[in-house]
Amino acid sequence: MDPGQSLPPAGRFAPSPSGELHVGNLRTAVLAWLFARTTGRSFLIRMEDLDRTVVGADRQQLDDLAAIGLDWEPEVAYQTDRLTNYQTVIEHLRDDGRTFECFCTRREILEAPSAPHAPQGAYPGTCRDLTDAERAERHATGRPPAIRLRAEIAHFTVRDILHGDHTGVVDDFVIQRNDGTPAYNLAVVVDDAAQGIDQVVRGDDLLSSAPRQAYLASLLGYSPPTYAHVPMVLNAKHIRLSKRDGAVTLTDLSEHGVTAARVLTHIARSLRLAGPGEMVDLAGLTERFRSDALPREPWILTPDEWK
Ligand code: GLU
Repeated sequence: MDPGQSLPPAGRFAPSPSGELHVGNLRTAVLAWLFARTTGRSFLIRMEDLDRTVVGADRQQLDDLAAIGLDWEPEVAYQTDRLTNYQTVIEHLRDDGRTFECFCTRREILEAPSAPHAPQGAYPGTCRDLTDAERAERHATGRPPAIRLRAEIAHFTVRDILHGDHTGVVDDFVIQRNDGTPAYNLAVVVDDAAQGIDQVVRGDDLLSSAPRQAYLASLLGYSPPTYAHVPMVLNAKHIRLSKRDGAVTLTDLSEHGVTAARVLTHIARSLRLAGPGEMVDLAGLTERFRSDALPREPWILTPDEWK
């Protein structure tokens, strides 16, 4: 049964609080909000704080999202508050014989000959069928194991509003890292289901993760969400925008006299939802938004944008 079955359908934005959001992140958040609001969904924010976090970054991110006009359900979820939920699911998969311990280092995986017919970059299967004795030997080295899913398929197809049916690799991916932290691919699936999220809008750098996540969701009996993997924002060199690209956060831009309202206007223009120089607000954009009219190519953002 879907844990979130009785919850209202929702969309979400799930930032990692590792620093300030840049214009690319804000644009993805705007799109996630527009998709949710124009399809009668509620909108949630989830802080994906299992990895490296910066103290106070969550607060700053929420302030920035509010500054460009987003609103969301009052309770913001933090993954570090939900560790027992992930543990329960990992144990359930283990008890079902769907996991195995993996002692490989990253290097061993890269250097291992790939299994015949295995897709490029897929886990080579080194620890999949260790005997009890081999496993005991590996435990004795003191290196703690990661937990991998024992995948029974090599590919899975997801439906994406912008990319159509997308088939991608599913390998024996990590569901718990060897420091005991639940892996992103597991946490995202558990949380989306638990929060009633049936629409996942995020950057298209994550499209290749969607088949693994949707496969895991199907194993757990959850309905897969509808996906929309949206184009990224790139810098003048056509490389993914990052903090190194100068003034790309609301704080930096405001020091150059660019207000949050103007940033929203530029984002809207990049989405072909506003004309040059036209000031807009998010509520107004819901009237114009049509997913099939969205640009499919990345937005190339140069410092000239703000002149
Ligand atoms: N936390 C991820 C990120 O900031 C997004 C994960 C997701 O949307 O599924 O890149």
